Amino acid sequence: MAHLVNYIYIVSAALFILTLKWMNSPVTARRGVFAGEIGMLLAVSGTLMAHEVFNWQWILAAMLIGTAVGVPIAYIMPMTAVPQRTAMSHACGALAAALVGTAEFYREPQHGFVLVALIIETLLGFLTFTGSLMAMGKLQEVLPSRPITYRNQNLVNGILFATALGLGVWLILTPSDTWIFPIFAGLSTLFGILLLLPIGGADMPTVIALLNSYAGLSACAMGFALDNKLLVIAGALDGSSGLILSIIMCKAMNRSFTNVLFGAFGQLQVKAAKAEQKAVRSASPEEAAAILEAASTVIIAPGYGLAVAQAQHKIRELFDALTRRGVDVKFAIHPVAGRMPGHMNVLLAEADIPYDRLVEMDNINGEFAQCDVALVIGANDVTNPAARHDQSSPIYGMPILDVDKAHTVMVIKRSMSPGFAGIDNELYYLDKTLMLFGDAKAFTTEILKELPARVGA
Ligand code: NAP
Repeated sequence: MAHLVNYIYIVSAALFILTLKWMNSPVTARRGVFAGEIGMLLAVSGTLMAHEVFNWQWILAAMLIGTAVGVPIAYIMPMTAVPQRTAMSHACGALAAALVGTAEFYREPQHGFVLVALIIETLLGFLTFTGSLMAMGKLQEVLPSRPITYRNQNLVNGILFATALGLGVWLILTPSDTWIFPIFAGLSTLFGILLLLPIGGADMPTVIALLNSYAGLSACAMGFALDNKLLVIAGALDGSSGLILSIIMCKAMNRSFTNVLFGAFGQLQVKAAKAEQKAVRSASPEEAAAILEAASTVIIAPGYGLAVAQAQHKIRELFDALTRRGVDVKFAIHPVAGRMPGHMNVLLAEADIPYDRLVEMDNINGEFAQCDVALVIGANDVTNPAARHDQSSPIYGMPILDVDKAHTVMVIKRSMSPGFAGIDNELYYLDKTLMLFGDAKAFTTEILKELPARVGA
């Protein structure tokens, strides 16, 4: 039986690795999700087989409750709420790891390496649990999403973490002092809350990726504590992929980890709201339609506003209408457009826009100079030329979509309000830029109304 379980674990581990690989591209992502599901089913079955005696009523009850909660969530959760849903999953996973660690600690005296793994597991598990709940609350706006700061905050957090860590070391050295454990667990839980306080809601996706990696490391430590090799592998995969994702996001925003975690980003928005009024040129849906139909190449740069407006299906109709008229239409995908990695890919894939029309930033930037129209839809920061030259800008150094190099730029957004970084966008004041003020879905619908009339003309 032990051999069979080991084989099952190997297949399961291979499926988890393939899942991560396949999730890399929208073409294979569905297959990736399926592989992950089969891998998890095998992992659970293998673990049950390895333990000949177990209380199946409890396991069945947990599976039924999990399914009853999870399945409806999968259907009712809107795409824009995926970051908070992910935070909720991490909170549940981390709590599970922390509780298993706690149970193991009290179940029988542990020593040496296993105890070290248990302490790491519970420390990371408890702090990730409350940290993820905070992230979820901020994203869902049940908690204030602005950064909450106070004097010497980083010092207080540092002391708190050092104390929790110190108590963990104490427990490793003197495991018989079990009374320390609740204090250790309590401080870890509190640290998760305080760590998230100074982080703005808009930075949460990056923090969630980081918390994902903590939850993974906690599960990996749990694998060592329980001597379960698959848990070690799955936890390590989770931990490293979460870390890599947060590094990619930080790089694409040109921000450091320390800036995301301790920079209280998001307070700047107050300043930006007071930005001076400069003149911009605006255009009507009719004028926009005329410019689009006269173009031979159009590059659409989507951003967060597209997700808010849920305009992806209308954009698909616009893509079809223009393509039918012989216009070459492509989509420029910025790595951090929107509020979660792959946000634009997911939205545009939902509207069945052909994958080969979605071009990553590095590959499309060279094409803007030859492009007739760059149509920016609900994107702001990822198109701001200040990132290239204004050293005082908070987004200085962030790679952007070079939409300003196109012959004409049109921007659909509702107002002159700033985006995530809270700063004015100099793109809007260029002579070649036309502002199309309105909701992304409503304005695109208006453009579409103008286009068929012209086809027949
Ligand atoms: P953005 O800079 O946040 O700008 C979005 C714009 O959409 C806003 O200026 C808003 O202007 C407009 N908008 C909102 N609702 C709209 C609607 N219904 N119709 C039309 N427009 C609407 O977005 P972005 O250019 O996509 O840039 C993403 C930002 O998020 C970057 O700064 C990035 O660093 C950050 N970020 C991204 C991730 C990620 O993983 N993707 C993670 C963390 C942070 P109006 O209010 O005037 O309409």
